[in-house]
Amino acid sequence: MFIEEFVIDAQTRELIDTYGNLTDELHTDLHECLGHGSGKLLPETDPDSLKNYGNTIEEARADLFGLYYMADKKLLELGLLQSEEAFKAQYYSYIMNGLMTQLARIKPDKQIEESHMQNRALIAWWAYELGKEENVIEFVKLSDSVTNELKTFVRINDYTALRRIFAQQLAEIQRIKGMGDFDKARELVEGYAIKVDKTLHTEVLQRYERLNIAPYKGFINPVMSLKYGSDNQIVDVKLDYNETYTDQMMRYSKDYSL
Ligand SMILES: [Zn+2]
Repeated sequence: MFIEEFVIDAQTRELIDTYGNLTDELHTDLHECLGHGSGKLLPETDPDSLKNYGNTIEEARADLFGLYYMADKKLLELGLLQSEEAFKAQYYSYIMNGLMTQLARIKPDKQIEESHMQNRALIAWWAYELGKEENVIEFVKLSDSVTNELKTFVRINDYTALRRIFAQQLAEIQRIKGMGDFDKARELVEGYAIKVDKTLHTEVLQRYERLNIAPYKGFINPVMSLKYGSDNQIVDVKLDYNETYTDQMMRYSKDYSL
């Protein structure tokens, strides 16, 4: 299983098993509604000033918003999370994915091109650098108990410090976006988000391949049809899952395209 292969220890796996799905969804909600949905440029800032780095910076802004507020007491107060530990599931998964496991989607010798993936690498590697002195995030090699092979894992030593780092990153990304600081956007994206560590990449691809799971997941919606009773009232909705993904997408494009 993916979690067993890549998550460092039983305690962290337990956190992710318990809170991972919920915090992942909350993170998406915070990303879309409060992340992308908030913020303002300075009046004299050209909205296109970050040019080809703009998308990645905007995704980083939304993700950092979500990461920072994931650990906010307000989420407990609102009853959205039940535990003060829950945010750690998202912090670990996010950093592990950005530093390592999303590389499973990249072909050998290729770089990171898609802006959401660039953003995740940007946040994770930059956070790693910012916390290096205090050893907030580290890479450790552990040998597999069965095969004895050495495997790389991510360890987060200080979640409170990591949240402070996310705050620092969020402030800087907001500044870059608000002021249209192209040079700094380029420096961050070129420095952290594109290039791939070849050794780590090879290792991730090999470990991932053995798990025999798809690198992406998607979903198919059921085709719904209404059933009418004798008085023309709707009495049931029939769900049919036989449509293929391609057929579904083509049908959506035909029926709902603008
Ligand atoms: Zn987004």
